Order: sequence, then C-alpha cells, then structure tokens
Amino acid sequence: MPDHVIPAPQVPSIPTRDGGTFPVRRVYCVGRNFAAHAVEMGHDPDREDPFFFQKNPDNLDASGDFPYPPNSSDVHHEVELLVALKSGGSNIALENALDHVWGYAVSLDMTRRDLQGQMKKAGRPWEIGKAFERSGPVAPLVPAADIGHPDQGRIALNVNGEPRQEGDLNQMIWKVPEMIAYLSEYFTLAPGDVIMSGTPAGVAAVVRGDVMEATIEGVGSLRVKVT
Ligand code: MN
Repeated sequence: MPDHVIPAPQVPSIPTRDGGTFPVRRVYCVGRNFAAHAVEMGHDPDREDPFFFQKNPDNLDASGDFPYPPNSSDVHHEVELLVALKSGGSNIALENALDHVWGYAVSLDMTRRDLQGQMKKAGRPWEIGKAFERSGPVAPLVPAADIGHPDQGRIALNVNGEPRQEGDLNQMIWKVPEMIAYLSEYFTLAPGDVIMSGTPAGVAAVVRGDVMEATIEGVGSLRVKVT
C-alpha cells in the first residue's frame, strides 16, 4: 500500500448505546416523508413523492452541542429516525430490506432554512443548507437486535420544554424497507451507510441557548443545546 501524501482523514463514527462505535460511510436523507411537513413547506404530498439528498458522514455529531452555524439567521430543527446499515447491496428486495439494518437512533437534520430556500428557488443543490458542520446531532445507536424495527410510535421535539414537532412513525410515506429498497436501485448501499428518514410537521427556528429535546418512542431520546 503506497503512503498517502497527506495524513489519512479519520473515518467518522457515531457511538452505540453499549459503548461501541459505528463507522459511517454515507448519510442519505429523505425529504418530505411526512405529508404534514410537506404541506407546511408549501408542497402537495399527493402530487410529489419523497426524495433523497445527502449530508456528509462527519456532519454527524453526538456531543450534545449544536454550534449555531455561520451565514444563516433561520436555522431549523428537524427530528428524524436514523437508520444504520450493517450490510448493503444493489436492488435489495423489499422483503429483505430490514435484514440490512444494524440499528436506529434519534437524530436531527439541522437546516439553514434561509439558504435552503434560496437554493430551492434557484434550482440549485441543497448542500449549503443541509450539509454543514455538525448539522446532524445524533443520539447513541440502539441495536435492532434489542428493539426490533420500529414502524410506529411517537416522534416529537420540544424546545426549552415547549412542544414544537409531533408525529408518528406510522405517518412516514416511505417506510424504512421502502427507503432501503429504493436507495439500492440508485446507489450501492454498504455497511456504515445511514439514512435519516424525514421529519414530521412543526419545524421552526432555534436561537443560541435553546435546548432541543427529541424523542422517538421505542428508540430513545436526544438532548442538544444550541451554542
Ligand atoms: Mn430532514
């Protein structure tokens, strides 16, 4: 193996509940996977399917702090179920899709909404609004071997104790097996890939000092301070 010409970057990883680490290869995110959120963003869920975009693996952050990012004055929380894959492939059949899941976590798809809005309007990619530093706060992963594969249960987020987001996993337009099967038709999935499953209604802005508390029934909770 030839020497690298610069030091090799570390493989990003996120913690697991039992003290292990899960190395992350890719981060796929689902957009508009809850009808009520599609409506609040000005879209008609009966006419538009969900879709995918990506964050960077090193955007995931289990520190419990979310540093308010630069170049935005409208940063929104989006509570999401994160699905972590232990195996992958292409053209995965729906009925086998859950066999590829290692576990689940509560996560946040933090979004520079003002910049995302500008990009949408101009028909440009969303990275500047979605894939910035520490834009993916995440709780420790919980193994599917312990909790099974949650397909229903409350998903909610409070800010400073006040309810903001609320929904149920059973409202997801694309269920977890469908997301995996669909993605595997376009990309070769692999161990270490994670999928953030989309957010229920109630997204809104945060300011420095806010404390976000997210919960997903059967999966866990996540507390993040905006710093
Ligand atoms: Mn999202």
